[in-house]
Amino acid sequence: MSLRFDAINKVANEKSSSLNVAAPKITSIFGENVFTIKTARAFLSDDAYKSLVTSIKGGKKIDRSVAGSIANGLRAWAEGKGVTHFTHWFQPLTGSTAEKHDSFFTLKSDGTAIEEFDGAALIQQEPDASSFPNGGIRATFEARGYTAWDPSSPPFIIEIGHGKTLCIPTIFVSYTGESLDYKAPLLKALEALNKSAVDVANYFDKNVTKITATLGWEQEYFVIDEGLANARPDLIQAGRTVFGAAPAKGQQLEDHYFGSIPERVYAFMRDYESESYKLGIPLRTRHNEVAPAQFECAPIFEEVNIAVDHNILLMDIMTRVAKRHHLRVLLHEKPFAGINGSGKHNNWSMATDTGVNLLAPGKTPKTNLMFLTFFVNTIKAVHDYADILRASIASAGNDHRLGANEAPPAIISVFVGQYLAKVLADIETRVGDKFDEQDEAILKLDLHRSIPELLLDNTDRNRTSPFAFTGNKFEFRAVGSTANCANPMITLNTILAATLKQFKKDVDGLIEKGDKKEIAIMHVIQKYIVESKNVLFEGDGYSAEWAKEAERRGLPNIKTTPLAFDALTTDKAKHLFESNGIYNHIELEARHEIELENYLKKVQIEGRIIGDLALNHILPAAIKYQNSVLANVNGLKAAGLPESAYASQLTILKQVSEHIQVIHTKVHAMVEARKIANNIESTRSKAIAYESQVKAAFFDEIRYHVDKLESLVDDEIWTLPKYREMLFLR
Ligand code: ADP
Ligand code: MG
Repeated sequence: MSLRFDAINKVANEKSSSLNVAAPKITSIFGENVFTIKTARAFLSDDAYKSLVTSIKGGKKIDRSVAGSIANGLRAWAEGKGVTHFTHWFQPLTGSTAEKHDSFFTLKSDGTAIEEFDGAALIQQEPDASSFPNGGIRATFEARGYTAWDPSSPPFIIEIGHGKTLCIPTIFVSYTGESLDYKAPLLKALEALNKSAVDVANYFDKNVTKITATLGWEQEYFVIDEGLANARPDLIQAGRTVFGAAPAKGQQLEDHYFGSIPERVYAFMRDYESESYKLGIPLRTRHNEVAPAQFECAPIFEEVNIAVDHNILLMDIMTRVAKRHHLRVLLHEKPFAGINGSGKHNNWSMATDTGVNLLAPGKTPKTNLMFLTFFVNTIKAVHDYADILRASIASAGNDHRLGANEAPPAIISVFVGQYLAKVLADIETRVGDKFDEQDEAILKLDLHRSIPELLLDNTDRNRTSPFAFTGNKFEFRAVGSTANCANPMITLNTILAATLKQFKKDVDGLIEKGDKKEIAIMHVIQKYIVESKNVLFEGDGYSAEWAKEAERRGLPNIKTTPLAFDALTTDKAKHLFESNGIYNHIELEARHEIELENYLKKVQIEGRIIGDLALNHILPAAIKYQNSVLANVNGLKAAGLPESAYASQLTILKQVSEHIQVIHTKVHAMVEARKIANNIESTRSKAIAYESQVKAAFFDEIRYHVDKLESLVDDEIWTLPKYREMLFLR
């Protein structure tokens, strides 16, 4: 029996074993595997505790002299929970996380076995870093890289069965200081935003001393039976199906969205949620998504750095826990053609240490002016740096999703809702006018009665916008489901930091010329609205008219990843990242190189899988089927039947034959195209060749013929699980 039928047979026997286990109260397990400040208090000396807290609050380095004492406390806590090993946990540019476990166990010089964790091991490690992506940085500089503890993200314990490992979140940098990960630049971007935003917030409230960016991601994913997934080499290797005819029933009945969650998946969700709670990931929402077998979960928002760590941890947990349920989680942006793909909306805002959400309209004209300031600066930032923001969400997987009639297009625009669009238009139309304190435009900022109700009401939400204001935060929807949120968050927070810095200069300039503060602010806001209104769009982002309109407005619409990455190395990008202390030009160029490499390798792998599957699975099945039809025709002929008795069989033979010929020819032509691409020297040109000469030139065409064969060939000899099976059997 083929793997496919074996898997189908087994699906029926899969029981949701853990469904009957009572769930513990969430608050009783929440954060139990995290070394929170509260836990630290119980395990650390006064000095060590104080040093840790100032380091977390003020972003200061841990004093080496107390590191040993913190390490001891950490080990005591971890050992109390059965931990034997520790690891620095970091986010190299591979897109996943890296860890190398060391045991606490060690031998003293006299051979005595002891358990130990010293301060040096906590603070810094030197993993053999030469096998991580570095974009040439290490070739040019030093071969070594090191990981350094990030105290702002608390240590945690990963449990795999009875194996327990203490994980220390770290940054990963080259020996000469260039960042080789996502966390180091993210922390810099958040600090840059903090500085610029505090300066601007102080126009309105002198008591603000710290501003943290907040992130609440929404993770979309597919869940399918593991046996069926195992029978799909493309899912295993590329995370998406490269072939598969559309099932009779897809998502047209719209009966999956918010429907009742299937039991097996429900058991899986409860299980990964408990694991997440233990790690302090505040998951809140779970529901079915639009496509069959598609789901979503979302936490309560957190400070960006923590939220990023939590999202990566969650993706890891989901993948592992799914196995226990004989399920497979698909995090890819487009695992199945013809139905919705998966995104990861990044809900983002900023909060002051005085407890104010800077993107929530306030209750008085003054606080509304503060809201309007941050709101308009965000729009201006997105307008001015749309290309860099686009690059931050570009990936091989996301190319399948962006603009695919169910996801935001590759054109970056901002939706603000009718009411605020009108407010902005009102301010804008007064170009040339002078504002004064009694001015209507300022007084009218008493918005609170209308804005919250209007915007928090779902009906005024535009689901087709890549960057939408949703009442008290912006929702960046173009982010792909596999993405490390750090990537878009580095860019978003940096561009806002840069814009706010300029805003402060502009306002101070007018104040120096004699404007009163509020008037100066209004004038700059007005100027920014005029300069960035092109990026505002309230209509249907999925429509063809929008693409035309965007072109007329001169908004970039870069459809493929290799070209989108060009935005990373423009003078504008270099200046942005360098002047804000995020990346120097070497780091930026290295990142560009790594992103391109990553893209082209993914396309290369897909190309190989397409070839392998076509030659090893599709053509053999088609030929086998052809032979059986042929035998039938010959039998009928031998029995003396007229040609009219087997005319349909001949048609089938001909059709199957045609598809076989095209597939075979194209697969070989694609191999040649890959060879040519592989010989291209520049990574950028190579990536572009992979996009245009390999992917665009062959993938869809080969798939078309394979999917036709799927609908012609005898179901019993088709080896790959079909869409209807993967999407509906569970
Ligand atoms: P949706 O209708 O898009 O599902 P929700 O109200 O469920 O919207 O919120 C989605 C996400 O937005 C959640 O993760 C939530 O925590 C997050 N969120 C809410 N407020 C903020 C904020 N101030 N900053 C960042 N994220 C936020
Ligand atoms: Mg949302």
